[in-house]
Amino acid sequence: MSILVCGGAGFIGSHTVLELINRGEEVVIVDNLITGHKEAVLSGKLYIGNLCDSEFMDKVFKENNIEAVIDFAAFSLVSESVKQPLDYYENNVYGTLCLLKKMKEYGINKIVFSSTAAIYGEPESIPIKEDDRTLPTNPYGETKLAVERMLKWCDKAYGIKYVALRYFNVAGADLSGRIGEDHRPETHLIPLILQVPLGKRDKVTIFGDDYPTKDGTCIRDYIHVIDLADAHIRALNKLRKDNTSTIYNLGNGEGFTVKEVIDVARKVTGHPITSVVAERREGDPAKLVASSEKIIRELKWIPKHNTLEEIIETAWNWHKNHPNGFLH
Ligand code: UDP
Repeated sequence: MSILVCGGAGFIGSHTVLELINRGEEVVIVDNLITGHKEAVLSGKLYIGNLCDSEFMDKVFKENNIEAVIDFAAFSLVSESVKQPLDYYENNVYGTLCLLKKMKEYGINKIVFSSTAAIYGEPESIPIKEDDRTLPTNPYGETKLAVERMLKWCDKAYGIKYVALRYFNVAGADLSGRIGEDHRPETHLIPLILQVPLGKRDKVTIFGDDYPTKDGTCIRDYIHVIDLADAHIRALNKLRKDNTSTIYNLGNGEGFTVKEVIDVARKVTGHPITSVVAERREGDPAKLVASSEKIIRELKWIPKHNTLEEIIETAWNWHKNHPNGFLH
């Protein structure tokens, strides 16, 4: 039987596909390649198309014996979501709705869903726990929360069991250096910093240094993409074992400031990396750190690559060998 990975050509999806294959799973990938890259899919059976294309999805489900689904297929840029909310609702909510309808039709009742800690909005307390208040401050977070709620009702009505994983800042790259992060446009801090030593930009901009944190810059919880891939597989195995729905946060347990991230990147790359301070970015909370206590306790998940050094080293290893990302 196969695992269907939707959005498996994207950054986190492609790393999870690789990890599944490494563990002997059979993998089928669906991706429309709007933000994903064909070259990021090193193995598995890739189908290029949309989740809401009913005939296309029928082909995927009929040609394969699908056991469970891992769903990464979504748009994921907060600022873009504020400008184009309908695109986010269409792709993230309607897309997953179409997928769930097909799962129901074909009797598939296990899904691991890629959610986000953005569903919490401005945190009430740190570290954030799974039962804290959810109050998204942007359409991206709203769409992910809408899907989590849809999943809850689909469980009740159709017995589709789910694990929703809520995470924030994912970075790093596969240790073999074969795949990595390639977003267009790039908006994430670590790949943007690495563009300076790559010669693609002359400096990195720090969005605000007047936050109430130790050095005035925002604190975020950075997690290695390999540790995240491992968590998705543990979630899948949990569904196989006890067939119950739940939600987990995923984080490093530790936060790092923007300045700390830039400093580690200087050390790793040996490049001075010029930075300038600019205005705060709209909607950025001062500090976001998730408590992963629940998944550590229940699924024995232990982040193995959680130092900022290793996250940046593996990202740098990929970027310096692929300065144009997946484009040749
Ligand atoms: N950030 C920054 N300069 C940049 C990009 C990001 O100072 O060019 C900051 C941003 O304000 C946030 C942190 O880096 O505090 C992480 O931002 P990113 O966009 O990578 O992820 P987010 O936390 O928004 O999911």
